Amino acid sequence: MSILKVARMGHPVLREKARELTQAEIKSPKIQTLIDDMIETMHEYDGVGLAAPQIHESLRISVIEFDLESERYKNAGQQSLIVCINPKIKVLDKKTSGYWEGCLSVPGIRGFVKRPQKIEVQFLDRNGEKQSLTAEGFLATVFQHEFDHLDGQLFVDKIDNKEQLAFTEEYVRYHHTSEEEELD
Ligand code: ZN
Repeated sequence: MSILKVARMGHPVLREKARELTQAEIKSPKIQTLIDDMIETMHEYDGVGLAAPQIHESLRISVIEFDLESERYKNAGQQSLIVCINPKIKVLDKKTSGYWEGCLSVPGIRGFVKRPQKIEVQFLDRNGEKQSLTAEGFLATVFQHEFDHLDGQLFVDKIDNKEQLAFTEEYVRYHHTSEEEELD
């Protein structure tokens, strides 16, 4: 396995619409290795998720995993590893809630983004099997953030109030309150 280089905001690959994978591709050693490398890269950089365009591959693959019991991420909880290929989202409840999001492709920046908090996601797992699950709260936000990468969108595009866009240091100093959760 290897740790891959992460594309940063401004790299055109982050603005492309990524393409779907075929069943044969999903089962290929090349894609299986890529998924392993994405997982290792997410762990290395302490991300809660990573999408293939972030490692310069314009493919519809995202990985998500977090254990946010630390003080910094209190209330965010835990999610065991999910590998999502060709994902689709259905919003179950349009009511939105916001998190201060961050992104490995936009290092050192935080922004407050409001998104629907109850969704259903359908995707293929790394064996090409169909999966679906319902997600709420922080996990719903993580799915939407990661799947936006597959359509060439970044969280900074979705910040309504530009006063809620900050460098991490200033975010911690002026905007962080215990009620708000973060995403990185
Ligand atoms: Zn991101």
